[in-house]
Amino acid sequence: MKNVVVIGAGTGGLVAANRLKAGLGKRAHITIFEKTHSHAFPPSLLWLAVGKRRPAQITRRHKRRRGIEMVNASVTKIDWSNRVVQTADRSVPYDYLILAPGAAHYPERLPGFSEAALDLYSAEGATRISAELAAFTGGKIVILVASLPFKCPAAPYEAAFLVDARLQERNIDAQIQIITPEPMPMPSAGPEIGKSVEQMLLSRNIEYLPSQNAVSINASSQKIKMQNGEELSYDLLIGIPPHGLPSFLSGSQVLAENGWVKVNPQTLETSVADVFAIGDVTTIGLRNGKPLPKAGVFAHAEAETASAMVIGRIKGKESSNRFDGHGACFLETGYGRAGHATGDFFAESGPKVFMKTPSRFSHLVKVVFEKWWLWKWF
Ligand SMILES: Cc1cc2nc3c(=O)[nH]c(=O)nc-3n(C[C@H](O)[C@H](O)[C@H](O)COP(=O)(O)OP(=O)(O)OC[C@H]3O[C@@H](n4cnc5c(N)ncnc54)[C@H](O)[C@@H]3O)c2cc1C
Repeated sequence: MKNVVVIGAGTGGLVAANRLKAGLGKRAHITIFEKTHSHAFPPSLLWLAVGKRRPAQITRRHKRRRGIEMVNASVTKIDWSNRVVQTADRSVPYDYLILAPGAAHYPERLPGFSEAALDLYSAEGATRISAELAAFTGGKIVILVASLPFKCPAAPYEAAFLVDARLQERNIDAQIQIITPEPMPMPSAGPEIGKSVEQMLLSRNIEYLPSQNAVSINASSQKIKMQNGEELSYDLLIGIPPHGLPSFLSGSQVLAENGWVKVNPQTLETSVADVFAIGDVTTIGLRNGKPLPKAGVFAHAEAETASAMVIGRIKGKESSNRFDGHGACFLETGYGRAGHATGDFFAESGPKVFMKTPSRFSHLVKVVFEKWWLWKWF
């Protein structure tokens, strides 16, 4: 019997572990490591932030699954030569390993972030945003992207549209500003998508400050110090924290120059044989020189490929499943509407992405997907 280990029970890890179980049955012992006890469906954090969801509606406790051993502990180290995954008090050997720990958040890398910003990327932070918006009586709301890369390139824009709609519903006069190091919205998707999102921001009077890097935030004076020396003020600060590699992978042999895990884009195998990596922890370069966005839709598809590869190897028949770079994403615009972008990110001439005009239908599809996800995996 082979030992297959998955690290991380988020979007990619959950799919991978379940597919491995279904495909391998008793041929393998499957272990999944997860450091948290519950999973909050990430796309719904945006609805949580504007009072459209309660935490319990989007959060599920990790449950035991037949045929999958769930180890509720943080992985601290991988012993690559002996093929062992380590936690503080356990060592588990593997024949095949799938790395799915996502991107870690490092708020401390932007001084003042933890004290000043409401973190859009955590359930606690999104819940606080909802409470602050309910009490907000007017002024300037800044949505700050602390650094690149960050997951879900649409999220700051969705947050701006949703916050704007929420405040309009309450007849509150607010100035909303997005400050980001990106040169344009969702740059990996190409300039046309960027322009159309900028146009939407303009039509909603949301101020957009691209190519801006914050160096520190002063919570008492409510000012953000920028790299160019300018100081930008805010009344309410919604932040996306700095992202980085989970520390147990620091300095390891599977990293690319940019510090994320390098994989074969089609098979998701790393430079170490029988070790695969999926989702936000990976880096995949595109033909336009930009990286594949860190998004759940890709983590999910990569999980299908990586698990099929492992199943094929254990069964002695190499899988033909290949990750093809196709993906879709919703762009919530408030008032019960969403845009829907679909595309081929591996296209020869660079990503080909098209966005449908925001509609009630796309918003409803997103709602149905949320319900399906929480039913399917929990
Ligand atoms: C607000 C928001 C909205 C989003 N909206 C969308 C959207 O609409 N569409 C879309 O496609 N994507 C969206 N995303 C992005 C999407 O959630 C991520 O890209 C996706 O979850 C990545 O999957 P993953 O498996 O790589 O990592 P994750 O889902 O982050 O899972 C990683 C798991 O590994 C665990 N872990 C980490 N380190 C360790 C360790 N050392 N030991 C044990 N366990 C560990 C973590 O606790 C976590 O559960 C959104 C994200 C956010 C924050």
